[in-house]
Amino acid sequence: MARVGKLTAVGAGVVGLGTLVASYAMDDDQHTKRQFARVVASEGLYARPTKPLPTREEQMKNLRLEQFDVLVIGGGATGTGCALDSVTRGLKTALVELDDFSSGTSSRSTKLLHGGVRYLQKAIMGLDYEQYRMVKEALHERANLLDIAPHLSYPLPIMLPVYKWWQLPYFWFGIKMYDFVAGKECVKSSYAISKEKALELFPMLKKDRLVGAIVYFDGQHNDSRMNISIALSAT
Ligand SMILES: Cc1cc2nc3c(=O)[nH]c(=O)nc-3n(C[C@H](O)[C@H](O)[C@H](O)COP(=O)(O)OP(=O)(O)OC[C@H]3O[C@@H](n4cnc5c(N)ncnc54)[C@H](O)[C@@H]3O)c2cc1C
Repeated sequence: MARVGKLTAVGAGVVGLGTLVASYAMDDDQHTKRQFARVVASEGLYARPTKPLPTREEQMKNLRLEQFDVLVIGGGATGTGCALDSVTRGLKTALVELDDFSSGTSSRSTKLLHGGVRYLQKAIMGLDYEQYRMVKEALHERANLLDIAPHLSYPLPIMLPVYKWWQLPYFWFGIKMYDFVAGKECVKSSYAISKEKALELFPMLKKDRLVGAIVYFDGQHNDSRMNISIALSAT
């Protein structure tokens, strides 16, 4: 029974490693596709809009008189994302918002563009491929947004203070896995720093038993402006 358990664990490890290697190789192809999409998207980028925006009265009238394929309710990240997706599929789309764009959660988030270090930990510990795919996709979107919206997003260094010796290699390995899964889309390689350096950067840290720190990188963005940009892209 123990032998079967060991074999299963080794098998899962090999499958996991194979997946990581395959996804690493696919990064190149995705990068080329993204570059191509940017060139296509930039065509006509500098053409100024000539038509004035419709007034509120005109919009209300259109909603009553015209027929739409899709009606999106809510102008938060979900709603504007759905509207953009719908419009790019050629569907005639209307969006109604109770208050204002980004007036809900979409202006109150932590504003991180992240794959989720904790989600990756869950994926590895639970050998959960779906969770892994979600992290991989989110890391790809992180790179995508940093790439296409540099005016709204930026790389964010995050420091994890470590208070137990065994946690230093444990966190270091976990964060290195996070970098590895991001592959070529890694924002910047993570690294460990000494207790002295950590205290120099954050003098208010609790000094007692501090061992050192790990620094890794994610992205952060202006969530409400990003949402407005997506809404405008859908028009
Ligand atoms: C504390 C916190 C931190 C988070 N941090 C992050 C993060 O760091 N990174 C990340 O990617 N995600 C983060 N999230 C998740 C993210 O913010 C949400 O998933 C996202 O904002 C949800 O957008 P939404 O459009 O579904 O909801 P909302 O932004 O709340 O939008 C709903 C909209 O619907 C409108 N509405 C409601 N009822 C009606 C109606 N009857 N008719 C018309 N309009 C209506 C509201 O006015 C509102 O504008 C965080 C979430 C929370 C709560």
